[in-house]
Amino acid sequence: MEDKKIIIDESDEFQCTVRNIIYLKSVGLHSGKDVSIVIKPAQANKGITFIRKDLSPAVIIKADSQNICSTNLRTSVGKNGVCISTVEHLMSALWGAGIDNASIEVYGEEIPALDGSAKIYYEAIFESGIKELNTKRKYLKILEPVIVSSNDNIKNCKENDYSIAIYPSDDFEISYSMNFNHPFVGSGLFESKIDASNFYTEISKARTFGFLKEVELLKKNGLALGGSLDNALVLNETGVLNKEGLRYKDEFIRHKVLDLIGDLYISGYRIKGKVIAKKTGHDMNAKLVKAINENKQEIKSNQRIHAYGKTFQLNNLANRTGAAFNTVNINVQPV
Ligand SMILES: [Zn+2]
Repeated sequence: MEDKKIIIDESDEFQCTVRNIIYLKSVGLHSGKDVSIVIKPAQANKGITFIRKDLSPAVIIKADSQNICSTNLRTSVGKNGVCISTVEHLMSALWGAGIDNASIEVYGEEIPALDGSAKIYYEAIFESGIKELNTKRKYLKILEPVIVSSNDNIKNCKENDYSIAIYPSDDFEISYSMNFNHPFVGSGLFESKIDASNFYTEISKARTFGFLKEVELLKKNGLALGGSLDNALVLNETGVLNKEGLRYKDEFIRHKVLDLIGDLYISGYRIKGKVIAKKTGHDMNAKLVKAINENKQEIKSNQRIHAYGKTFQLNNLANRTGAAFNTVNINVQPV
């Protein structure tokens, strides 16, 4: 079997879904049209599924790396030419709220923008309640780094290249650096372990942002048609136009992290690994998700052995040491 850099492993946690049905409605950030969604509970191992209910027959689109259809200023998923745009903020909220399975009926071509962050989705999910299912949650464990870069020669990356990579870690960690040519946004680095305990307070409230001077061009291209001060931070040359100011001192970079979490969750899994991203947006995030998909391998239960009160992974060990299976008992490593 070909060596893979990522394994799909089982955690001690249980999968969750929403307890009650959630209704949300607002303008779509890019389409400018009113759109509504209905989030419903789903069974274990079903994942996050979108259903275009405004079409007849309805079109079912799973949140899956193979269904990413556009990454131009937002992430869209689609199937057979039918798209659902701007799924990333909702995907981020589902990740943060610990939802593994949900069926999301969409009445329109885009997810509602709400306030431009993940806050309202997250609060609605918590209001609905969270139901634990009787099946263990699976996650992606990174064994070897997976790297994608805007420069084909990864070893020769330059200052202006964009890159994103994921490295082994026991936690989900993000290190994001950016360098905007704007005095108010500027450059910065955000580095943190992110989990259910800090997602809501540290990440979920960060709003999307745009530059006033680009609005006309975006609208000409059919983007940001629903954008306003109600659902985005809007920047002029010197600061933000939003009267209430920023929710975090570094709201811009936190929103890039919020996007990244949502984009990565389209892999269909939570991740144990450290993501190091430099100036990336939806396009590079999607490339990493696709690279993750190509490098992952499910562990079959007969490839696990139990000893010394721990679970050991046979093919993982064989991959790393070249050890034949009959020698693993002298080299076993916990997974
Ligand atoms: Zn965003």
